[in-house]
Amino acid sequence: MFSFIKKGLGKTLGAIKEILPEKVEKIDKTLLEEILIESDIPYELVEEIIYYLPPSQMLVRSDVKRVLQSYFMYENAPILSSQKPFVELIIGVNGAGKTTTIAKLAQTYKKEHQSVLLGAADTFRAAAIEQLKSWAEKIDVGIIYTQQGHDPSAVAYDTISSAVAKKIDHVIIDTAGRLHNQVNLSNELKKIVRICDKALSGAPHRKILILDGTQGSSAINQAKAFHEMINIDGIIITKLDGTAKGGSLFGIAKALQLPILYVGVGEGRDDLIVFNADDYIDTILD
Ligand code: GDP
Repeated sequence: MFSFIKKGLGKTLGAIKEILPEKVEKIDKTLLEEILIESDIPYELVEEIIYYLPPSQMLVRSDVKRVLQSYFMYENAPILSSQKPFVELIIGVNGAGKTTTIAKLAQTYKKEHQSVLLGAADTFRAAAIEQLKSWAEKIDVGIIYTQQGHDPSAVAYDTISSAVAKKIDHVIIDTAGRLHNQVNLSNELKKIVRICDKALSGAPHRKILILDGTQGSSAINQAKAFHEMINIDGIIITKLDGTAKGGSLFGIAKALQLPILYVGVGEGRDDLIVFNADDYIDTILD
């Protein structure tokens, strides 16, 4: 599942695999440290991981996995709601991959034979509205939009109301991502959240933050800023294809203590995979 990370790991891992037999039950601590560094896990975290492991040079694989998995203990906290529509608010800085991820989520739900309505509530950028409209057309889902500069919370309200009337299963609402104007953005996002609840009590059911997985610590700082504004429920990490950056997930998960819901592995509508810590860790160790 996470084979895309392997592609980026390059020669070192190849060399290690020649030394280690397939499916080793024991792992040499020095080699493990190299694997973790090569996976792009921040060095302080590699040191921390090594510290938490038993003091012997030859480590049992299950001990290593247990320590690595402890970084993703927030994974299994899905927010379940039987309410329809299930409303998701998509948050993140411009360029992180919000619009593309909305398309991917819509595609995922459509494949499950569920109906989807998009809300183009990033009314700050005309291009954002156009881009989302174009995806809606390609994926063949409905979209509620307005002109640039109009009230984003009104778009959110209209999208939810329309979805309720049409008995739509999923509402996915885009939002603006101009983090350089934090006070305005914070007020705007808080208002959208309030208005969602007004349109449908309990909505939004999930506030999802989109983070660019190639951004390292700056992604973590952005995430903290958004989390302070409106309490994020889960994250989706994009652009994990074609890079060795898989290890950035450790830093993000540790710093935010939030579940990683999906990871984006390409620009296409099908390039979204459910994040599974167990598979991810196996990919790093195998
Ligand atoms: P937004 O400004 O947050 O809405 O970002 P966009 O959805 O427009 O994405 C910004 C750029 O990143 C676009 O060129 C996307 O095709 C690209 N992108 C988004 N997600 C991924 C991903 O998972 N992998 C790759 N390689 N590119 C991505």
